[in-house]
Amino acid sequence: MTRKPLMAANWKMHLSIREAVDFIARLHEVVAGSEDREVLIAPPFTHLWAVREAMGAAGFSLAAQNCHWEEKGAFTGEISLPMLKEVGCGYVILGHSERRHIFGEPDEWVGLKTAAAFAHGVTPILCVGEKLEEREAQKTEEVLLRQLETGLAQAPAEQVASLVIAYEPVWAIGTGKTASPEQAQEAHAFIRGWLARRYQKEIAKNIRILYGGSVKPDNVDALMAQPDIDGALVGGASLDVASFGRIVRFQ
Ligand code: PEP
Repeated sequence: MTRKPLMAANWKMHLSIREAVDFIARLHEVVAGSEDREVLIAPPFTHLWAVREAMGAAGFSLAAQNCHWEEKGAFTGEISLPMLKEVGCGYVILGHSERRHIFGEPDEWVGLKTAAAFAHGVTPILCVGEKLEEREAQKTEEVLLRQLETGLAQAPAEQVASLVIAYEPVWAIGTGKTASPEQAQEAHAFIRGWLARRYQKEIAKNIRILYGGSVKPDNVDALMAQPDIDGALVGGASLDVASFGRIVRFQ
């Protein structure tokens, strides 16, 4: 099975609902003819419904940027997976470095969320990646292993084939410093090798591994040319429809 490229926009805490709806209206035109790749939008929670409506029958995918692992309860400020499903989310981004490093989200929580997402039929996009000091101390693989092992500790092996992983070196997120295509490929190959050992080769072959970290129209082609890079998780450059459209239309 070939892996369909997944080009994902992570809007973080940006755009008004009106701007989001206008973006989707333009996106239909900008990515017309790109049906061989999957286009995904992860807007803020408050925009999910309006974005879903604006997507119509276009076949775009919708993701949330986070969730809680419990179905319901006294968790002020949290959003559950049944709520995300009801609003039309097929995916949820988990363990983004901003959640891990700004909000102190521990690896174990990411594991609970990943397992809960599988249980509810929402595909997790599990983010992993090392900080600059960890890369400089040659600890990239150690960090990736820890985040993968805890992130997938309770994930059912029979569902793991649908998983999406995003390799996002923290030093490249929002900094304008992209990992070189070779650096990214090396990390992606390491992750796929681990998946093959942990599950099966066939499963590892089918799992999409996205690269994230200052992906832009002018570097996407070289990144996407790497054999183990199956898509991109795009922050800053996904806020402008022309630039995200060009990223979706990578060559
Ligand atoms: C991200 O938020 O996941 C990200 C990769 O951001 P940026 O593209 O701005 O580096």
